Amino acid sequence: MTNAVKEKNTVIVNPVDKYPKPEFPEQEQELPGTEDKMDPRPDHGEASYKGSGKLTGRKAIITGADSGIGKAVAIAFAREGADVLISYLNEHEDAKDTAAYIEKEGRKAILLPGDISSEEQCKQIIERAVQEFGQIDILVNNAAFQVSHESLQDISAEEWEQTFKVNIHAMFYLCKAAEPYLKPGSAVVNTTSVNAYTPRPTLMAYTATKAAIQNFTSTLAQLWAEKGIRVNCVAPGPIWTPLIPASFSGKETAQFGSSSPMKRPGQPAELAPVYVLLASPESSYMSGATVPVTGGMPTI
Ligand code: NAD
Ligand code: MG
Repeated sequence: MTNAVKEKNTVIVNPVDKYPKPEFPEQEQELPGTEDKMDPRPDHGEASYKGSGKLTGRKAIITGADSGIGKAVAIAFAREGADVLISYLNEHEDAKDTAAYIEKEGRKAILLPGDISSEEQCKQIIERAVQEFGQIDILVNNAAFQVSHESLQDISAEEWEQTFKVNIHAMFYLCKAAEPYLKPGSAVVNTTSVNAYTPRPTLMAYTATKAAIQNFTSTLAQLWAEKGIRVNCVAPGPIWTPLIPASFSGKETAQFGSSSPMKRPGQPAELAPVYVLLASPESSYMSGATVPVTGGMPTI
């Protein structure tokens, strides 16, 4: 094929028009939310992600891999050749669906439900991965908890603590338990948020944990640099996942992402390539970094 013909066949998609824009139907869910109740359904790259052997033979743990961003990352990792342990709270149907995509690639999927706010659960995740895979090469700390409130007075101490436990304490428990197994060349990828830069006042506890995650990433990257273990984080903007109808009002959900410069929310599929990059040896000099995927929302 000549270059001219190749060029003619290349479809260049305008990112603004790639996915639906709000108005979405008004919808609400209870936390943690599930994918099957979402309208429109999110895109996790099921039909589009193409692997090229970037993670062949790698063994990965992904928290919150049942749905949303974690699911897209799990599908992409499997297509790049990795086996995946799927940690999730209790959304069994979503988790089984993710596992089916991993197995379709001939890779191994392990389902592990449970609340990662307990150190015991986090230790079990690491032990199970070592038992089943014999090694851990990639740890993606992606699960999170958020509840929206108009007033500080509406946030209970219990909810404040639970937000910190799930979002940042679990990251510490998992990294600590994984360290003895992480060899040079391993990678940790944490999910922070655009809220670390421009905090939404109705998500006060959550945004504080997201800023902490960035700081944690930066310190751990330095602590582990000489061991050859890289630690980075991804800062998503508004992304269409079950977390959204489960934590915002029907009206907010219907307009979700409309105030971003691209006037639409991102889809989980648009995040996965960045996690693949950060997990793969191709990003060998990247550590301590935050990569924003925000549709143009400012992060400075
Ligand atoms: P999601 O609901 O699909 O994924 C979050 C997952 O966390 C859930 O599937 C759930 O199983 C898991 N989880 C929650 N509480 C848990 C607990 N106590 N124990 C174990 N697992 C638990 O939503 P998502 O948007 O894909 O979220 C993934 C990450 O992306 C989160 O860190 C979130 O903060 C971040 N993020 C999302 C957005 C967005 O707009 N969706 C924006 C910025 C950052
Ligand atoms: Mg879920």
